[in-house]
Amino acid sequence: MDRASAPFPARRVGSSTARLGLLLLLGICPAARAWDEATHVSIVRGACRLSPSAESRIRSDHRDAFFEAVAKADQIDPDCRAHRGPNARREAAREAERALAELTAGPLSRYDRARTFGRFLHYVADCSVPTPMAEGKYAMLPDFFSNKDFLIFRERQDLGAPLAVSLRQRGGEAQWGEESTGAHAAILRLAINLTIDAMLLLPQTGGAGVPADPPLVIFLVNRVDNGAFTRDSRLRVPWWNPDYSAPNIRSDLGGRAAVEVVEWRKRRSEGKAVARALLFNGTSGCATKIVLKTRSWLIPAPQIEMTPQTLRAVELETPPDVELEHLSASWTAGRCSTGGVFPSAIPTADRLMLEANGHPPQFEGAVSHVVPSKLVTPLPLGSRRDRNAH
Ligand SMILES: [Zn+2]
Repeated sequence: MDRASAPFPARRVGSSTARLGLLLLLGICPAARAWDEATHVSIVRGACRLSPSAESRIRSDHRDAFFEAVAKADQIDPDCRAHRGPNARREAAREAERALAELTAGPLSRYDRARTFGRFLHYVADCSVPTPMAEGKYAMLPDFFSNKDFLIFRERQDLGAPLAVSLRQRGGEAQWGEESTGAHAAILRLAINLTIDAMLLLPQTGGAGVPADPPLVIFLVNRVDNGAFTRDSRLRVPWWNPDYSAPNIRSDLGGRAAVEVVEWRKRRSEGKAVARALLFNGTSGCATKIVLKTRSWLIPAPQIEMTPQTLRAVELETPPDVELEHLSASWTAGRCSTGGVFPSAIPTADRLMLEANGHPPQFEGAVSHVVPSKLVTPLPLGSRRDRNAH
């Protein structure tokens, strides 16, 4: 996480031009529900895709029984309605700890081990859920996998003992900040990473030879036309609209040459607020002079520079009443001041491109390798390349 204490205060700008809304297309996708049975299975499949070493903890036999238990850990409450919240009958973190104890205590039949392992991972994923579910107000969130982009990558953080305490603490990160759709991608990523970290608590089953986890970023891309970046000429934003940007008319995340705000959320405290955002530099150059823009505020982030095709998580101080919906970024293509080395930057060269189509993803497909087309290694000023360029 890069912390940018902006030397310039965020400033309010005039009321924004009317923008196209999400149109009528919102209603087209069937309502996917978060952390329903299919989502539980999806989270484990995502964990396996991101981490072959985690997948090696699953035995090859009784896989159906394993995934059945992932989906329905609790026969009395198969819809997962009372695993979180003040009235939780089977509190997720405690149930996960109990399942792990069963897995490590004594000999289990292979079938029972598969079932218990699946139940374990179900309750682990229940520890990272959106706030309305964590508070027990809603069992499901409709449209969780619609109308937004997700970027999922490995963020390792070993789980400690006692496990229930560690799970509540890590899973509690999902409740950092106010509930917003901008937080949902981060919460799914947390659930998948928590699942991987939990799987790694168990010994691998395949013996030696498990490949190291690849540096993979899963792009789960919103391809529903939103009017701003559509391929459909009838829906295009006109040139005078602030959302108009020639390279960006044609594509979706992963294809746009732009700095994108993929996630955002905000926490208020003592008359101010802190915002966290995940930025993606989809351009082929270094992005400098980044400014985050809402409808009524400009939030400069001058310390944040981004090398091409990388992600950075940033934290910024913002005015308390700033509205982060419709957060976007402007930037200047330039030369990264540090020579383009940012330890916190996450490379996205190896990608699994999937569509956020309203359904929990299966995480299948081939990985593509992206090379920024005009990627230039920065040289010191006054070097040969600079002289040639002028
Ligand atoms: Zn559950």
